Amino acid sequence: MKTDIIVIGAGPVGLFTVFEAGILGLNCTLIDNLDKPGGQCAELYPEKPIFDIPGVPYQTGQEHVDALLKQIKPFDYKLHLNQRVEQIEQKNNGWLVTTNAGKQFESLNVFIAAGAGAFEPIKPNINTDISQLEDKQVHYSVKDKKAYEGKKVLVFGGGDSALDWSIELEKIASEVTLIHRRDAFRGAPDTEMKVRDLAAKKKINLLTPHIIKDVELDSLGELGEVILYNSDTKKDITLSADNILFFYGLNKKLGPLLDWGLENNGKKIEVDTECYETNKQGIFAVGDINNYPGKLNLILSGFHETTLAVQKAFKRIYPEERVPFGYTTSNTTIHERLGIKSD
Ligand SMILES: Cc1cc2nc3c(=O)[nH]c(=O)nc-3n(C[C@H](O)[C@H](O)[C@H](O)COP(=O)(O)OP(=O)(O)OC[C@H]3O[C@@H](n4cnc5c(N)ncnc54)[C@H](O)[C@@H]3O)c2cc1C
Repeated sequence: MKTDIIVIGAGPVGLFTVFEAGILGLNCTLIDNLDKPGGQCAELYPEKPIFDIPGVPYQTGQEHVDALLKQIKPFDYKLHLNQRVEQIEQKNNGWLVTTNAGKQFESLNVFIAAGAGAFEPIKPNINTDISQLEDKQVHYSVKDKKAYEGKKVLVFGGGDSALDWSIELEKIASEVTLIHRRDAFRGAPDTEMKVRDLAAKKKINLLTPHIIKDVELDSLGELGEVILYNSDTKKDITLSADNILFFYGLNKKLGPLLDWGLENNGKKIEVDTECYETNKQGIFAVGDINNYPGKLNLILSGFHETTLAVQKAFKRIYPEERVPFGYTTSNTTIHERLGIKSD
C-alpha cells in the first residue's frame, strides 16, 4: 500500500495533517492504536470544553474531533485503527512501516503524530496469564457489539466505558454483570442512574464492592470460572462467563517510538523547527510527541508544526516543483480539492 504520507497517530494533529496534505493534493494513511480517531481529545476528555482553538470560542474534546473529521471528509485518506506501529525501516528512498497486526505501509514520508505515546489498556492484576484469551473471550474495548449477542458478559470498571457498555450490552447479551471495586462510579451521573435503575429492575447484575481475584482456565485453555473478592464480606465468589470486558482505563506507552534511531530526550523526539523533521530525512514528528526550544503541548502548536512539515513532504515527493501556496478563501485548485463550487 503506497501513500504520500503515513501518519502515526490519529489525534487532532494527525487528523489536521490530512487537511494540510489534502489541499496540496497529497494523500495520507493514518494508523492509530485506539479504536477511534481523536487521540487525547476523544479518549481523555471528550466532554471537557476547549477554549483555545483559534476562532472557535468553545468546543468539547469530541466536538473538536468531529469538526476535524468533517473538515477532512473531502480528502481521500485511509484510517487503520486498533494497531500500533512497531517498526520503521528504511526502504529505497523512503520508509516501511510495520504494525503489530502485521500490516505494512510504504511511503517517502512518515509523520509521527503520536502524542504522549500509544494508549494501552490497563490489564487486571491477576496470577493467571490470560493473554491467550485476549480478543477471543477477554476484551479491553468493544470492537463489534454483535459478538456479545446472547452471551454472558462480565464488565469490570467504574468509568463511562463500563457504565455505557453495560447499558448497551444489556439489550443484546443474555446476562450482563457490572463489577466495580467500590459502590461509586466515576462516569456521568446520568449514566450511573440508568445502570442503577436497570440493576433495580434486575436487568443488570451490579456487584460492588468486588474486585477480580483470578480467572481459571478450563481443560481446553478457555475461560473457566472467574473468582471475585467482596471487600465488605471478605469472601470470594465465583462466576461463569462467556466474555469479560475490562475497562480499567489506559496507560500511555511510548513503546517502540524511541527505538527507531530518532534523536530524543527519553520522552520526546527532537525536531528541526524549520520543517519539524527528525534527524532522519522523511521522518517528521508533529504535535505533543516532538521537542524543540519553546515547545508547548497545545493543539494549535501541533497544527502549525504539521502545516510546515507537509510543505517539506511535498518537496520530497516533487523536488522539481515549487510548493503551491494559496489562500483557501480564493484558490480555485484548493476549492476543487475541497469539492467547493467556485463562482
Ligand atoms: C485533560 C486535558 C485537557 C486538555 N486541554 C487542552 C486545551 O484546552 N487546549 C489545547 O490546545 N490542548 C489541550 N490538551 C492537550 C491536547 O489534547 C494535546 O496537545 C493534543 O491532543 C495533542 O495532539 P496529538 O495529535 O499530538 O496527540 P494525541 O492527541 O496524544 O494523539 C496521539 C495518538 O497517537 C496514537 N499513537 C501513539 N503511538 C502510536 C503507535 N506507535 N502506533 C499507532 N498509534 C499510536 C495514540 O493512540 C493517540 O491516539 C489537553 C490535554 C488533556 C489531557
